[in-house]
Amino acid sequence: MTESAAPTGIAILGATGSIGASSLDVIARHGDRYRVVALSGHRGVAAMERLCRQFRPALAAMADPRAAAALREQISDLSGIEVVEGAAGQSAVATHPQAQTVIAGIVGAAGLAPCLAAVEAGRRVLIANKEALVVAGSLIMNAAQRSGAVLLPIDSEHNGLFQCLPARPGQPLSLAGVERLVLTASGGPFRERDPATLSEVTVAEACAHPNWSMGRKISVDSATMMNKGLELIEACRFFGMPAHQVDIVVHPQSYVHALVQYRDGSTLAQLGNPDMRTPIANALAWPERVAAGVGPLDLVAAGRLDFAAPDDHRFPCLSLARAALEAGRGATAALNGANEVAVAEFLQGGLRYDRIASVIEETLAALPAEPDDTLEALIAHEQWARRQTAETLQRGRHR
Ligand code: NAD
Ligand code: MG
Repeated sequence: MTESAAPTGIAILGATGSIGASSLDVIARHGDRYRVVALSGHRGVAAMERLCRQFRPALAAMADPRAAAALREQISDLSGIEVVEGAAGQSAVATHPQAQTVIAGIVGAAGLAPCLAAVEAGRRVLIANKEALVVAGSLIMNAAQRSGAVLLPIDSEHNGLFQCLPARPGQPLSLAGVERLVLTASGGPFRERDPATLSEVTVAEACAHPNWSMGRKISVDSATMMNKGLELIEACRFFGMPAHQVDIVVHPQSYVHALVQYRDGSTLAQLGNPDMRTPIANALAWPERVAAGVGPLDLVAAGRLDFAAPDDHRFPCLSLARAALEAGRGATAALNGANEVAVAEFLQGGLRYDRIASVIEETLAALPAEPDDTLEALIAHEQWARRQTAETLQRGRHR
């Protein structure tokens, strides 16, 4: 970017969450390069009011209409901010005409439709919302091919892979001599906990990640390692890599985020402090580099980097995700729906931590026919899995 170029307009889906906060932190450091034009949230009115006052977007969307009404009231002293609501509001943020770059930072399949809308509109789309790729990965990748949208991953492992790969996603990796992709996993808070006590895990314990500060759903996913299962699916869909060429390695320090192994025996790794501002800054500025507010990795202070194979017995969600990936898009959509419902129930105190995997497994055992590769069919399939899982929970067999 030359110094005289106009700032890039940015829209953020899920601006009031953890990814939203990290993104806005990076953006605020570079007022000359980036301008916030549209923000979305679910129902956190106070959080969105703060963001509106600080960043003065042209558009603010709340998914919940009552929250939108409250926000209109709260910011009635500010001029020039239109407040919209519902699914149409999220889509309006995703396709805002002044936004060249869209950050997909909504949690869960709720982010799929707006993420796809941004891709279809040909924006540069920075994807944190891994569930969108898990439910409808080929749809998103195909839409990008058609619209010319540039997709960049900001999930830290996938951004690490992106940095270690020679070509843009969409080009066959085999032609570039890539043999394997490796995602690292911290192992979460229960990597070494006595398995006999996993039935007593509290919500606070499950949300207390040792290395990363994140939203509650992804924190629980990290504790069960479903997060790494979802990321495995995300990696296959995003980079067009078969499942048997993607490995997961446990690395408790979270300094190495991902590795790419090449035909000639070379392995390239991306390292950095565990701070989402690094992958976000990388994707925002790509192919340039900007400061992220993150200090350099001090390897001497780190002292050691440990690696181990994941323990599928302790973390059954990993095997569920691998099996779903092999079974096809219907199974991965259902895996996501079942996981979202089970995790929400755990967070509300209605499901024991060590039952999350078995509840999901029960849903996957009853899969209906493979859905078409359309947004409507995939969402309907995911909704089926949600209902099925809710029924399992209602029967109370897992309490
Ligand atoms: P979060 O819970 O902190 O924030 C979620 C955001 O989504 C909030 O702005 C919320 O208002 C919005 N949202 C929730 N439900 C919505 C709905 N129905 N409609 C519209 N908006 C809705 O979550 P997070 O930790 O920021 O994670 C966001 C996504 O990024 C997830 O997919 C997660 O897996 C991924 N991710 C997060 C991190 C991290 O460090 N937090 C790292 C890698 C990937
Ligand atoms: Mg990740």
